[in-house]
Amino acid sequence: MKRIAILGSTGSIGCQALDVIENHSQRFEVEVLTAGKNKDLLIEQAIRFNPRHVVIGEESMYKDVRDALSSFPIMVHSGYQSIIDCVTMKSVDIVLTAMVGFSGLLPTISAIKNHKTIALANKETMVVAGSLITRMAADNKVDIIPVDSEHSAIFQCLQGESNNPPEKIILTASGGPFRGKNLKELEKVTCDEALKHPNWNMGNKITIDSATLMNKGLEVIEARWLFNLLPEQIEVIIHPQSIIHSMVQFTDGSIKAQMGLPDMRLPIQYALGYPQRIKSDFLPRFLLFLLP
Ligand code: NDP
Repeated sequence: MKRIAILGSTGSIGCQALDVIENHSQRFEVEVLTAGKNKDLLIEQAIRFNPRHVVIGEESMYKDVRDALSSFPIMVHSGYQSIIDCVTMKSVDIVLTAMVGFSGLLPTISAIKNHKTIALANKETMVVAGSLITRMAADNKVDIIPVDSEHSAIFQCLQGESNNPPEKIILTASGGPFRGKNLKELEKVTCDEALKHPNWNMGNKITIDSATLMNKGLEVIEARWLFNLLPEQIEVIIHPQSIIHSMVQFTDGSIKAQMGLPDMRLPIQYALGYPQRIKSDFLPRFLLFLLP
C-alpha cells in the first residue's frame, strides 16, 4: 500500500489522481489532501477518501472545513505553512505536486528534504528552481517521477537505457486551439476560445499557456532539468493528434516513442505505480485504423 499526499486535490490533476486511487484502492491510500479555496470539494473528497489530514490553504475557511469534518477522524489544518508541513509526515510515501504556479515550490522542497518520492505535475517548480530541486533530490536520494504527459513519455522511453544517454529528446505539442491561425486572426481570439483545448481537459492556467504555446516553453525548461540535457538537445514538433506523447532519439539514430490516448490519468497512474505498470480499465484500447 502506497500512502499519497495530494497537493492541490481540488484541481484538474488532483481530481484525476483521486479517480486513479479510487480504482486501485488496494494499492493506494490517501493520507493528505490540500486545496486552495475550494472548501466544498475538499470536504466532499475528505468524506469520500478519509485521509488522515486535510489542509485548506485559505485560512478564513478553516472553521467551515473543521466543522464539516468534525465527526470524522480527520485532522484539519489551514494556511500555506500547513501545506509545507503536511508532506513531512512519516506516514506519507509519495507527494503528488498538483498545485498551480510558484505555490508548489516550497512544499516540494519540504517533501524532498523529508525523503518523499515526488510525483511532479507542478512544472513551475522546475521552471523556477530546476537546478536547486534536482541537486536536492540527488542529495536526498529522492526519485522525481514526472506526471506531465510529455515528460512521463520521455521518462518511460528512458527505462532500461541507463547506459545509453539520449542524443536528443523530441517533445510533441498539439498546437492548441489556435494552430494554423495567422497573426490577424490571432488578434481577434477570445479567452473562451483559448480555454477550449482540442485534446486535453486541464486547469485554466495550463490551458491558456497551451493556447499561447507558453506551456511548451515551460516544458522545455522542465525537461532540461529533469533529464539533465542541454537546450540544443531538446526539440519541439507539432503533433495535433496528441497520441505520441514524446520521443527520445539515441546515439545510434533510433527513436523510441511513448504513445497513448490523451488522458492524464495514464501518466498520473504511471507515476503513482512506478516502477510497476498497473492495469487500467478507463482507457479504450488504441486502434491504429482510427487514425486519419
Ligand atoms: P488547477 O488550477 O486545476 O488546480 C490547481 C490546484 O492547486 C487546486 O487544487 C487549487 O486549489 C490549488 N492551489 C492553487 N493555488 C494555490 C495556493 N496558492 N495555495 C494552495 N493551493 C493552491 O491546475 P491543474 O490541475 O491543471 O494543474 C496543476 C499543475 O499540474 C500545474 O502546475 C500544471 O502546469 C500541471 N499540469 C497539469 C496538467 C493537466 O492536465 N491539468 C497536465 C500537465 C501538468 P483550489 O482550486 O481549491 O483553490
